[in-house]
Amino acid sequence: MRDFIYNGQPSRVVFGAGSLAHLEREIDLLGARRALILSTPEQSQQAQMVADRLASRAAGIFPRAVMHVPIETAREARELAQKLGADCAVAIGGGSTTGLGKAIAMESGLPILAIPTTYAGSEMTPIYGITEAGLKKTGRDSRVLPRTVIYDPELTLTLPVGMSVTSGMNAIAHAAEGLYAQDSNPVMDLMAEEGIRAIAQALPAIRRQSDDLEGRTNALYGAWLCGSVLGNVGMALHHKLCHTLGGSFNLPHAEVHTVILPQAIAFNADAAPQAMARIGRALGGQGGASAAAGLFDLACDNGAPVSLRDIGMKESELDRAADIAVSNPYWNPRPFGVAQRGEIRQLLQNAFEGIRPA
Ligand code: NAD
Repeated sequence: MRDFIYNGQPSRVVFGAGSLAHLEREIDLLGARRALILSTPEQSQQAQMVADRLASRAAGIFPRAVMHVPIETAREARELAQKLGADCAVAIGGGSTTGLGKAIAMESGLPILAIPTTYAGSEMTPIYGITEAGLKKTGRDSRVLPRTVIYDPELTLTLPVGMSVTSGMNAIAHAAEGLYAQDSNPVMDLMAEEGIRAIAQALPAIRRQSDDLEGRTNALYGAWLCGSVLGNVGMALHHKLCHTLGGSFNLPHAEVHTVILPQAIAFNADAAPQAMARIGRALGGQGGASAAAGLFDLACDNGAPVSLRDIGMKESELDRAADIAVSNPYWNPRPFGVAQRGEIRQLLQNAFEGIRPA
């Protein structure tokens, strides 16, 4: 047994089909009376449904969350919260909506109640991101960790199958990198392996039938586990590459995670054999495939993109992406600084072409 440090994150999780019915009780437990409800424009109906449930305890709705939390949107939402005298924020949606809630909490300390409807996992982390003048700044602050999270799989039935698969791969990426994190610990290892297993089993079921409640429940359960791993331990090469490609080349978040994950795991395979064994076991170890190949197959077999070419990257930009990725590397079990630029460039080429790792 290795030495480790484990920091519990103080959040309350209410899980189960139909658990949105407990919303009022949960708002009560937060001691809140005037909730500001947040959503994207696409999910404004769900926001209205939350407001209807809360009746007089809904202070207002801000249905304008967008990807990457632009500072202008954050300011607007903060001002509205202040004007309405809101004493909590209810974020119903994916990582973009939760991110907006975090931007409000960062300044005001308002408690957030998150109701996740994708598998991105932001609701379990104290990590925030705000985009100002085209640059996304991220950081950690315990004030932005949602106090309460209601996971209701019924709210995910409408997530389109394509987004469900890439969002699930996004969640698996947190768990996979958590397994070889520098500050990993045995509790997170358990959660990571179980999270990967739950999502890997759920995705084919969701693909077969998008409103399969059991599949949706398993996927959301996995998302909770994987998000917890992201919130507790450090991320490595895979997340660095995704931040580079998402931030500097404006590629879609969950799709980038889906394409890069098998390639990043292949790069790290020899440096992290125990993590590979756990990932392989969680994927069911089909046909003796490596962890990296297993992840590639999971995405491919469920109709997700596996090449950067297919999600809008230009081949001519791969050189610049490699330069950015190695210029300020994260810790990784296999180092990837300037000296490894050639290997990272090759990884990106493989990702561009969608080559199945060995
Ligand atoms: P998203 O929140 O941008 O949602 C994508 C689209 O799907 C939106 O239009 C949304 O309204 C819609 N949608 C969400 N749930 C739906 C449902 N059940 N039915 C129908 N439509 C639905 O996507 P995301 O992948 O969840 O989040 C991505 C963002 O979250 C990125 O900006 C990423 O950086 C951030 N993120 C942050 C953290 C963190 O810890 N801070 C973790 C993961 C992701």
